[in-house]
Amino acid sequence: MPVNGVPHDTIVAIVGAGAMGVGIAQVAATAGHLVYVFDISAEAIQAGDKRLQGALSVAVEKGKLSKPERLEVLSRVIFTHEIEDLKPAKLIIEAIAENLDAKRALFQRLDELADRETILATNTSSISISEIAAGSKHPERVVGMHFFNPAQAMKLVEVVSGLATSSAVASSVFKFAEQWRKKPVLVRSVPGFIVNRVARPFYAEAFRMLEEGVTSPVLIDHVLKCCAGFRMGPFELTDLIGHDVNAAVSASVFDRYHHEVRFLPSIIQEEYVAIGRLGRKSGIGVYNYTNGVPAPAEPEHKRPKRTLHIRASDKMGPAHDLLAEIANVGVSVEIDPAMAHGVLNCDDVEIALTDGRLATERSNHSGKSVVLYDLALNYKTSPVIALAPGDQASDGDIDIAVSLFQIIGKDVFIIDDYPGMIVMRIMVMLANVAADAVRDCVAIPSEIDNAMRYGANYPIGPLEWGDLVGVSRVFETLCNLTQTIGEPRYGPSQYIRRRACAGRPLQ
Ligand code: NAD
Repeated sequence: MPVNGVPHDTIVAIVGAGAMGVGIAQVAATAGHLVYVFDISAEAIQAGDKRLQGALSVAVEKGKLSKPERLEVLSRVIFTHEIEDLKPAKLIIEAIAENLDAKRALFQRLDELADRETILATNTSSISISEIAAGSKHPERVVGMHFFNPAQAMKLVEVVSGLATSSAVASSVFKFAEQWRKKPVLVRSVPGFIVNRVARPFYAEAFRMLEEGVTSPVLIDHVLKCCAGFRMGPFELTDLIGHDVNAAVSASVFDRYHHEVRFLPSIIQEEYVAIGRLGRKSGIGVYNYTNGVPAPAEPEHKRPKRTLHIRASDKMGPAHDLLAEIANVGVSVEIDPAMAHGVLNCDDVEIALTDGRLATERSNHSGKSVVLYDLALNYKTSPVIALAPGDQASDGDIDIAVSLFQIIGKDVFIIDDYPGMIVMRIMVMLANVAADAVRDCVAIPSEIDNAMRYGANYPIGPLEWGDLVGVSRVFETLCNLTQTIGEPRYGPSQYIRRRACAGRPLQ
C-alpha cells in the first residue's frame, strides 16, 4: 500500500555494510521494506549481519520492537556478495568509503545495473553531490541522503540536491525519510551541507577559548551544558567523536570554502591529532581518561548574605527573568528606564549582560566597576552563571556580583574578561553561520534550525535562539566582537544585518 505516496513494498538496496550502511538497512527494514545489503568484503558482510542482530536485540530490550518483530525485520534484510542482486531495488543508497573516485566508479556500475527510474542516493557527509553525480549518465537521479550516526537513532536526514538533481527525486527521497520516521530537510549541496557547516563555531570558538586561557575546559563544557542546554560540551563531544575525525571535517569545510576565516580550524586541536591525543579512543584528548571522566568544575565559595541595593534597566532583553528571580527571593529592585539595556546596578557595581565588549572597556566608559554576566537560555532554570569582572573591579566589587547571583541560587563561576564570554560568543557565532547558510540558499531558516536540533541534538535552533536574544542584540554583539577582537571572522552575516535593519526575526 502506498504510504505518503511512497509504495511500501519498494525494495531498497544499500551498498556498504559498514556502520552507516547497516544502520540505514535497519531503518528501512523496520519501516517494512525488503532490503538488500551489498559489500565487496565478506568480513564486512559477516560483521554487518552480526551488528544488525545486536542492534535489533537492543531495540527489543528498549521496548521499541517485540521479539517476533525483531525476527520479521531480520528476515527482511538480505546480505549479499552479488551486486546484481540489487537490480530490483527502486532506491539504492550508497554508504561506502568517503572517496570520490570509489563513489563515482560505483555510480557508473549502478547506472548499468539499475532500472532507469531507480533513485541513486549517497550517504556522503562531505563530498559534493554534483561531483558524485558526474559519475552517472543520469545525474538527475543522484541525490544525497545524509543520515547521522547511529542512523537507527538519529532523526535527521539531509536530503541534498546537487546541481543536476531533479526536484522529483529529492521529494521522493524526502517522502521515504518521512515514512521511515525521520526528520528530513531539503538542502543544497554545499561543503558541510547544513550540520557540518553550521556546527563549526561550537568547536572552533571553544578551542579558541582554550588556546587563549579563558578558563578550564571542564568549566567551558559545564557552562555550555548548564546555561545553554547542550547535552555535551564541545570538549567532551570532540573527545568522543575523535579529534582526528572532527579536525578532518573542520579542515575539509575550511578548504572547500577557500579558507574562509569563519571556518578557521583550531591549531591546538590539530596538535592533539599530530601527537595522537585523539580523545576517548586513545585514552587522552582534551581530558585524560586514565583515571575516569574529568571532575566537574567547582563554583565560587559561598559569600556571606548581605543586603543589596539594586537598580535595573526596564529593558533586560533575554535576561528579563533575572529580575523575577531576584524579586522571588524578596529583594526589591528599583526600575530605572534611564539605565542601559541589560544592566543592573548593585551597590554601585555595574552588572551587565555581555555584548561582545570587554568588561574593562565598558568600565572605562561608565566610570564604574563592571562585572559582566553570560547569556543563559533560561535564567530561571539554569543552575549556573559565569561572570567576567573588568580589570578595574576590586575583590569587594566581585563579591557583590557573586552575592547577587548566589542569593538567587546560582553556582557562580568567574572567568577571564573575554569578548562575548562563553555562551553568548558561541551562540551569536552559531546564529551568524546559520544566517550565512540562509543567505547562501542552503536551506530555509526553519530547516536549518531543525537540522541542528535533530542532527546535532541542539536544545534549540541557532536562528530561533537568535530571535529569543533579539536580532538587533545579536547584530550589535557581532559588531562589538569584530571591533574588540579585530578579526573579520566575527563580522555579522548580511542576513542578520538585513533582518536587524528591518526589525524582522531570523526565523
Ligand atoms: P565504514 O568504513 O564503516 O563502511 C564502509 C563499507 O563499505 C565497508 O564495509 C567496505 O567494505 C564497503 N565498501 C567499500 N568500497 C565498496 C564498494 N566499492 N562496493 C561495496 N562496498 C564497498 O564507513 P561508514 O562509517 O559506514 O561510512 C560510509 C559512508 O557514510 C561514508 O561516505 C561516510 O562519509 C558516510 N557517513 C559516515 C558517518 C559516520 O559517522 N560514520 C556519518 C554520516 C555519513
